[in-house]
Amino acid sequence: MNDALNDSKSALVLFSGGQDSTTCLAWALERFDRVETIAFDYRQRHRIELDQRLIVLEEVRRRFPQWKEKLGEDHFIDMGVLGQISETSLTRDVAFAMKKDGLPNSFVPGRNLLFFTFAAAVAWRRNIRNMVGGMCETDFSGYPDCRDNTIKALQVALNLGMDRSFVLHTPLMWLDKAETWALAKELGGDALVETILEHTHTCYESARGPMNAWGRGCGECPACALRKRGFEMWTATKA
Ligand code: ZN
Repeated sequence: MNDALNDSKSALVLFSGGQDSTTCLAWALERFDRVETIAFDYRQRHRIELDQRLIVLEEVRRRFPQWKEKLGEDHFIDMGVLGQISETSLTRDVAFAMKKDGLPNSFVPGRNLLFFTFAAAVAWRRNIRNMVGGMCETDFSGYPDCRDNTIKALQVALNLGMDRSFVLHTPLMWLDKAETWALAKELGGDALVETILEHTHTCYESARGPMNAWGRGCGECPACALRKRGFEMWTATKA
């Protein structure tokens, strides 16, 4: 392995502009000296997240001077081909439903495998050793590409295939949504919680809508329901 080619103090964060990836960004900014971000346009129907993520980056720079200097380049990858080949409720105008195989129809096959593989290609060019993603085994969806074993296997495959020693970090893997809010508070205090509430986008329906206690969104889709429930659980444990 060409360890010398990877800067171990650097990280590339899969940053979609949602609650989870914003918490991951803060986690990386606390740990590493140089942090870059990457996003993917796969023609997701909630493409509004791609606008919101730029606002979140701006807010992070504005509100956290200790992180501002570490936060480097943002990479944007056009992955429209994934939208073309995926028949899912995230990439087509169809209602959310559970499928016979027990997976929600919002599952985009191969999505996180491709994201990390493309991120690794960018990290390879940028000499970045660490990659950070918000995958989580404990949320409702049961996406197989969010599982710990999948990510561990992918790390091995990427290191063999690119002859580097990348480390894939998934700090939210074993946290529920209430614990993710608690982690955000721990990392960036009220300022980070406020930034996440106000500016991150979670809703599958692209609704921004009026501000709720848990943020903006339709309040009904599976992503909003999860975010709302997690926030309520977190505030209940704080009380
Ligand atoms: Zn929603």
